[in-house]
Amino acid sequence: MIDLHIHSNFSDGLDTPSQLIERTLISNKMIKAIALTDHDTIEGLAEFLSIGEKTNLITIPGIEISTKDDLERNLKDVHIVGLNIDHESIELNNALRAQLKSRIDQKKKICKRLRDEFGFNIDFQEVKSIAGGSSIGRPHIVKVLLKNNPDMTNNRSVNDLFKMIGAGGKAHVIRDFELSLEESIQLIDSSGGIPILAHPGIYEVESRSKLVEICVQAGIRGIEIEYPYEKSNPFVNTEKASWACENLPKYFSNIAEKYNLIKSGGSDYHGGNKIVQIGDADVPDAYLKQFI
Ligand SMILES: [Zn+2]
Repeated sequence: MIDLHIHSNFSDGLDTPSQLIERTLISNKMIKAIALTDHDTIEGLAEFLSIGEKTNLITIPGIEISTKDDLERNLKDVHIVGLNIDHESIELNNALRAQLKSRIDQKKKICKRLRDEFGFNIDFQEVKSIAGGSSIGRPHIVKVLLKNNPDMTNNRSVNDLFKMIGAGGKAHVIRDFELSLEESIQLIDSSGGIPILAHPGIYEVESRSKLVEICVQAGIRGIEIEYPYEKSNPFVNTEKASWACENLPKYFSNIAEKYNLIKSGGSDYHGGNKIVQIGDADVPDAYLKQFI
């Protein structure tokens, strides 16, 4: 078994890269390879690779880039995973630094709007300290909203709060700089990596096949097949959970064959206390030969 989609505390995960490796080695799932794919950052890769080298585990350097929304093409929060990237690429480092800065600026502005226009008790510094690492995301804002504003949030679902600050939401702020789908793919390509459409089944789109077609035209070379859909948004705890886990991997596997795409997959593990564990996606070892 392998797991090609994992997060550390350098983005929004809880474990350090070393802890991820340790956790993988002590699990009884016989995992041969893992990829660290933090959101918009490669800062964790040096530790990940140097610790990995000392073990039998194959450690693959990766990234997960959040691409710019493109509502005309119905692309909302589409993520592109890059596997086997050269994390020392200057072009990659510069682009990610700019992306990170604009992401932080955006989160600051969202906190200000939530406070000034909507009356929530929220402060960017608190969001930042909850995030801990370098990449601050919507989950951290939602966490502070829930913690500090029980009265204002008790009749709203967590999904509602995510939507309010996400693209098209009432408290959303557009970023100054954000890599488009095409730019993200090119960046991964130019740093020697394989651009892969992440968790294609989770996006709210009218047509899943159209989404893949757009991504293929944009240059993706791979697609995630195995993914713990039943334990992830938007399916977790819904009546569609078992439908998703039974049908989506098969559906995207057929599409991968149609377009001759590399098959990938992973758990999208974020931390020890969540229901998703490393190796949960049951990604077959056979995929590995496509990457190394
Ligand atoms: Zn992820």
